Amino acid sequence: MEILACAHCGGTLTRPLTRVRFPPYAHYPVGNGHPMPVLMDAGTYAVDPAPDPGPAGWLLLAPGDATGTVLVRERAVIACCGITGDNLSCAACLRPVGSRDDECSFWQAVWLDPGAVRAVPAGPDRPPAGWAELVHDRSGPLPVSEWGRWDERCEQETTLALAHLIAAADGHPVRIEHGHAAELLGPQLARHLRTATGPAKRCTLHGPDLPPTGLRPDLALVPLHPHTGEVWPAPPGARAVPLHVEVWRHLAFHDDRPAVRIGHRLRAELARDDPQPPSRGYWLWTDTRLLHDTLARLPAVRGPAFRATPDALSRDSGY
Ligand SMILES: [Zn+2]
Repeated sequence: MEILACAHCGGTLTRPLTRVRFPPYAHYPVGNGHPMPVLMDAGTYAVDPAPDPGPAGWLLLAPGDATGTVLVRERAVIACCGITGDNLSCAACLRPVGSRDDECSFWQAVWLDPGAVRAVPAGPDRPPAGWAELVHDRSGPLPVSEWGRWDERCEQETTLALAHLIAAADGHPVRIEHGHAAELLGPQLARHLRTATGPAKRCTLHGPDLPPTGLRPDLALVPLHPHTGEVWPAPPGARAVPLHVEVWRHLAFHDDRPAVRIGHRLRAELARDDPQPPSRGYWLWTDTRLLHDTLARLPAVRGPAFRATPDALSRDSGY
């Protein structure tokens, strides 16, 4: 773990944090005037790896973890519903250290300037959650509403998976052999692969505690570890398509399993005390720019096979 400290005075800016995967959609606003949740989990931080569209090296964390900072109202940019701008200072010396984003359509977050902070070792990282714990985690609200609408992070993560699925199709149609996954991804996939030709590639859900279907899939939607970025291996002969475990486990088990005990962790024993509303199906709002940008970074998409699959994209109006 690290504590992020002021590079000028050494003052502690955060509580001890564990570095995790950078969410590739951190710079992508959602909707227009849409209230947004906190992006990062408490106790974690990520480092922005890419200069595009933002500067590299900035440190991203949950606002509640920036315990040693103060908001400087004079430097805040007043936006329609909140504030942005270089509005955070070290609480000890008052030098600028970064920004607190609290504005509609932007993820609730603190961004610390790599030129103004330094990471100080603060003991070993907490061990990352194991797959069994992740797959059986029943804490927190459901990621999908009774109307089939997913929360913002799940939607962006699913858009990333859709991009990987389009690339893995390699110009072929794709048939998703899992009902919930087909419901969520099928319409968008068909739209983006509508001129695909040749035999359909078969795609299944594959991962921990999910019984094998007996099919020999070409593509496998496998869980992506939210903190380490690790991807569960695909079955032999199949290509892995990573899908954030929060979405994956809901599709795989539909959150209707009986509670199970994992070790001595209380969180895995939690059972919801009210019955789940009946599912009314799933639908996916995709961030067109995130989808385009993700596809552009995938080598397979730049090959000739993909040029046969035009992306007739238009911005969806989900918000
Ligand atoms: Zn300072």
